[in-house]
Amino acid sequence: MNRIDEKLEPILSEVLSRNAGEREFHQAAREVLESLGRVVAKHPAYAEDALIERICEPERQIIFRVPWIDDQNQVQINRGFRVQFNSALGPYKGGIRFHPSVNLGIIKFLGFEQVFKNALTGLPIGGGKGGSDFNPRGRSDREIMRFCQSFMTELHRHIGEHTDVPAGDIGVGGREIGYMFGQYKRLTNRFEAGVLTGKGLSYGGSRARTEATGYGATYFVQRMLETCGESFDGKRVVVSGAGNVAIYTMEKVIAFGGKIVACSDSGGYVVDEAGIDLDLIKEIKQVRRERIAEYARQKGAGKHYIEGGSIWDVACDVAMPSATQNELSGKDARTLVKNGVQAVGEGANMPSTPDAVEVFRRANVLFAPGKAANAGGVATSALEMQQNASRDSWTFEQTEARLAEIMRNIHDLCADTASEYGAPRDYVLGANIAGFVRVAEAMRALGVV
Ligand code: NDP
Repeated sequence: MNRIDEKLEPILSEVLSRNAGEREFHQAAREVLESLGRVVAKHPAYAEDALIERICEPERQIIFRVPWIDDQNQVQINRGFRVQFNSALGPYKGGIRFHPSVNLGIIKFLGFEQVFKNALTGLPIGGGKGGSDFNPRGRSDREIMRFCQSFMTELHRHIGEHTDVPAGDIGVGGREIGYMFGQYKRLTNRFEAGVLTGKGLSYGGSRARTEATGYGATYFVQRMLETCGESFDGKRVVVSGAGNVAIYTMEKVIAFGGKIVACSDSGGYVVDEAGIDLDLIKEIKQVRRERIAEYARQKGAGKHYIEGGSIWDVACDVAMPSATQNELSGKDARTLVKNGVQAVGEGANMPSTPDAVEVFRRANVLFAPGKAANAGGVATSALEMQQNASRDSWTFEQTEARLAEIMRNIHDLCADTASEYGAPRDYVLGANIAGFVRVAEAMRALGVV
């Protein structure tokens, strides 16, 4: 575990006590503060005017009731959140998550990470995040629509194309964005395309946005491998999850010549030594919205489904955790290292626990932290905003080329920053410092606001 610089120790203590019980937010803040010791040693001005304290405090936190009526005519109540963390670089930008585990601490950790991630893209976007403890699993399409409409009925007062621009995350894909955009349009009587990203192509979405996070994470890891004279070609790859990020990570890894040997959902994981049949995974998860266990059942002999358990027991050269936070423990990391993993690329936000990151660091495994590796999603959201602002629509190739270039730049920025601060190949340090410096520069210019 890295030590916190003594100047920053009181700041972390204050964050922990002011945000009691918010475990994931503590974890995210600690990781960033651990990286900043080297920055304040080199540039003491960044520690002036309580700049770091201000970065750790969200600009605004909104919590609201979301009442809706289910198919049995019963009234249901959920809780909605939007944390507008930092707008020094541009309007707040970050996804909306619908999952029963959602609480303020989780939204704050995600919002905090988003601030630095968005800065790394070099695009003019601040950081925020939102969501609800609503569980979409097993809900009918009409129930999803009524929930989204009720959620937006409150949220619409707080967002706008120049204020705060939400997108999708766990449990929120194209369908949910469509229902929320429809309600926003109705309430405001404005076709304000730039208020949400991840929209469908028929009403202002961007080509390649759906694929962007997974493709981007794969581009990042490919570049990281390239710096060691390696590539995905012929590598065994394990990807956790089978949602938006996981599916498009698998698609790009396969395009780069890798073989996906396992993927998962929250019920368990499937192993297919012949290489996962991605078309079938898409059919099961995106069209039929079923459990991944179906894959083994349908494919038959030689395809294993393991309920519960850890997907990280499957030996691989590259691991791409793409499901959720803290899904890869220290024990999992030790198993991966024992089995010869060379690189880990986080498609999800903070999927590796601090213990796991430490195991990878000590074993010299190439490790790409989520805030850098999964930034392709939000970067392409910013490209969607650009297209909306200019009433334009780019081709898939044009958009993907921009994404690839952005991911390369983020990789190189993290690598160069890590070297500059005396820790070559430490992408965690590089990402935290490079993201921080961009936000800090803007905050200093804007005064104490
Ligand atoms: P989806 O809802 O599309 O997919 C999530 C996947 O992870 C599903 O397969 C789900 O399984 C599984 N999962 C969810 N919770 C758990 C859990 N507690 N334990 C095990 N598996 C779980 O979400 P996304 O693909 O959009 O998001 C995945 C991760 O990527 C999140 O960390 C998100 O914050 C991050 N991310 C997403 C971006 C995007 O553009 N969508 C951008 C940047 C980061 P099941 O089907 O059983 O629910």
